[in-house]
Amino acid sequence: MNWLRHLVLRWGARNFSLVCPHCRHPASSSTFRRGRYMLGDETLVCDACGETSVVTFWRFEGLSCRADRTDARQCAPLPNSRH
Ligand SMILES: [Zn+2]
Repeated sequence: MNWLRHLVLRWGARNFSLVCPHCRHPASSSTFRRGRYMLGDETLVCDACGETSVVTFWRFEGLSCRADRTDARQCAPLPNSRH
């Protein structure tokens, strides 16, 4: 059952990131509190830029930001790229 718990924790952490798809500003605590229990087709207003977006896009943006950061580290130029 350890793996299941691990998976749930991972998914919980994933759901934690809400980033505005318009200005890429992370959700403030009040916006986050409103958005975290929303269903995918409900909309959330950004208090940084004032744009309204579907909460799915907020979650997706949060995920892609995290992926970008990991990619940047993995895609660092290798010193020995010649064969
Ligand atoms: Zn915004």
